[in-house]
Amino acid sequence: MKPKFADRIASMPTSVFSTMGKLALEHKAVNLGQGFPDFDGPGWIQEEAFKAMKSGLNQYAPMNGIFTLRNNISNAFLNNYNMQWNPDTEITITAGATEALYSTITALVNPGDEVMMFEPYYDAHQADVILAGGIPTYVTLRKPDFSFDPEDLEETVSNKTKILIINNPHNPTGKVYTRSEFDQIATFAIKHNLLVISDEVYEFLTFDGIKHIPIATLPGMRDRTITISSTGKTFGMTGWKIGYAIACPELTVAVQKVHQWTTFAVNTPGQHAMAYAFSKLDGYLPDFRALYQSKRDLLFERLKETAFTPHKPDGSYFMMVDIPESAGEEDIDCSTRLVKDLGVATIPPSVFYSKSDEGKSMLRLCFAKKDETLLQGIEKLKAY
Ligand code: PMP
Ligand code: GLN
Repeated sequence: MKPKFADRIASMPTSVFSTMGKLALEHKAVNLGQGFPDFDGPGWIQEEAFKAMKSGLNQYAPMNGIFTLRNNISNAFLNNYNMQWNPDTEITITAGATEALYSTITALVNPGDEVMMFEPYYDAHQADVILAGGIPTYVTLRKPDFSFDPEDLEETVSNKTKILIINNPHNPTGKVYTRSEFDQIATFAIKHNLLVISDEVYEFLTFDGIKHIPIATLPGMRDRTITISSTGKTFGMTGWKIGYAIACPELTVAVQKVHQWTTFAVNTPGQHAMAYAFSKLDGYLPDFRALYQSKRDLLFERLKETAFTPHKPDGSYFMMVDIPESAGEEDIDCSTRLVKDLGVATIPPSVFYSKSDEGKSMLRLCFAKKDETLLQGIEKLKAY
């Protein structure tokens, strides 16, 4: 019998991260593709998880997450961005930012609703909108600084547009939006009465002293924004899949209506460990940032010895590089050849664009890797 699938998955491709990860393993390639650290997260956070397990904290957590984690996230937001969120009514712990995005988008999007996003987009943003029956529309961030044309915002919005999705710091470009860009985006969102889903999983990875601004903190934005982040990025443990969504009570109730039927609750010992981690955030961040900034600088400098031209990122752990024009090769062919023949995995960013062709001229590299991995990767890239 040929199974009949739901229409909503008809156009769903396999994620580029799975495809490239598989090729990297098959060809024993140096993996600068999928975004995760190839070194372990802090042992002192793991100890807290062991302690929680050993003391019997192994049954279901509350649907919205354990109080101490929600409370410590609320305190971190207040300390870093000077905005108060009620841990009981405005914060939900989710199975990674991935689930927070899914639950939020599923809770808000009706079939036929338009959802605007900047491209290159994070692939889950587009996929979740399509799964909900929504229609994604795009504003392109253009090289070299990945800025947008404000007229593009007005040309893309329609009376069907309900939501704008932003991602800051930005995957895959490493762009950090400027305050003046944010002022334009906030004014636009308010003018068109849009909800804003703000994916801020790299909020603590900004470099050269740049300060992260949550868009919820701009005037008029608090009650129309769902802020999403991830302890996987902040504490270097992506495999624990503990994320969160922050929003006003009305929007939080909506997100939780989906969350309760998606995962219901997130793993308990991990939440206890992350609650402890957040209580130590201030002491942890300087070294964390310095480590990733040194990795960015290493990759940026050493790429000059290769044919690829890097765009220096202000945040996240990704860097875009231009494929040399003389190679006459597009990103998918180039990244396939790199992983199969030269033994280095990268991500072809054209899969993050739907409107513009710009992605075809670049590759995305991840620098959340040991220095030796980065150096091995650069040696391989030199052969191109
Ligand atoms: N949003 C962005 C922009 C990401 O890069 C990622 C993953 N790296 C996620 C969301 C998913 O986060 P999580 O692993 O917590 O599900
Ligand atoms: N966010 C990670 C990246 O951009 C991948 C996460 C995933 O594989 N879903 O590489």
